[in-house]
Amino acid sequence: MARKKIMAGNWKMHKTVGESVTLVEQLREALAEVTGREILVCPPFTALYAVAQALQGSNIQVGAQNLYPAEQGAYTGETSPKMILDVGCSHVILGHSERRQYFQESDQFVNEKLKAALGYGLKPVLCVGETLEQRGEGRQKTVVSFQVERGLQSIPAEAMKDVAVAYEPIWAIGTGHTATPQQADEMHATIRNNLSGLYGDAVAQDVCILYGGSVKPGNVDELMAQPEMDGALVGGASLDAESFVRIVKFQS
Ligand code: PEP
Repeated sequence: MARKKIMAGNWKMHKTVGESVTLVEQLREALAEVTGREILVCPPFTALYAVAQALQGSNIQVGAQNLYPAEQGAYTGETSPKMILDVGCSHVILGHSERRQYFQESDQFVNEKLKAALGYGLKPVLCVGETLEQRGEGRQKTVVSFQVERGLQSIPAEAMKDVAVAYEPIWAIGTGHTATPQQADEMHATIRNNLSGLYGDAVAQDVCILYGGSVKPGNVDELMAQPEMDGALVGGASLDAESFVRIVKFQS
């Protein structure tokens, strides 16, 4: 089965409800004719409902940027998978490096979140990636393989059709320093190999592996031309309609 490219925007902590709706109205119109690619936007929690409403019946899906792995309860300030599903999301980004770095999220916690997402029928995008220091020491493959294996612990093979992995080298996120297409492709092949070890080749071949880290209109074509690139997770450049439209409409 050929993997369908997933072009996803992570808006992080940007945009009010009004700004979010304006952006997705522009995207909806400009991307209406796009077929054969999955398009996903991940606004902040406060805008999820309004964005999902504005995108009803369109070819653009909506994802959250995090969840707490419980259905409900005394977890002040947290958001459950049931609530995320309820506002119209199909996806959720998990284990983003900013959450690992600023909120001390461990692989084990990310794994719990993955299980919770899948338990509610949400499709998780599991983010992994090494620091500049780890790459400098030549440990990028070991670090990322560990994150993949721990993040997917006890996730059964049949659930993997709903899981995507995003390789996001931390040194490339928001820095303007994109991984070269070869560096990214090499890491994607490593991740595919990890998946193959965990689930066998047939399952591994169907999992989408996205690249994230300073993807822009000017570099997306070259990145997406690599054989192991199954899409992009885009931060800064997804906040502007013209730029994200060009990224989604990459040419390869
Ligand atoms: C991200 O937030 O996942 C990301 C890749 O950000 P940027 O595109 O801004 O580097």
